[in-house]
Amino acid sequence: MELTYKTKNNRLKVNIESDSVKDSFKKLAEFQEVFDESACGMCNNDDLQFIVRTVDNNDYYELRCKKCGAKLAYGQHKTGGSLFPKRKLENGSFDKEHRGWHKWTPQG
Ligand SMILES: [Zn+2]
Repeated sequence: MELTYKTKNNRLKVNIESDSVKDSFKKLAEFQEVFDESACGMCNNDDLQFIVRTVDNNDYYELRCKKCGAKLAYGQHKTGGSLFPKRKLENGSFDKEHRGWHKWTPQG
């Protein structure tokens, strides 16, 4: 079976091919978790940029808001090459207010 899915903000479209309903469910879930972030959690702007930074041979995946500069960082699962947005606060609880979006304050 094949299904086409468009993100909520209409910026990305994906074709998912799969053998079963379970398989498409999994693939869509993975896609949504990573790509279906429709707006910045700080200022609600929908102009977002996908960024990969490489530091010391490690790749860091993040979404950046082009308006306010806030970022949403993605963690990497140890196997399977999949990503997940980091939505928890430092104390381990879910970031209800900003959904994991945050700003680093400049030094000085
Ligand atoms: Zn923003």
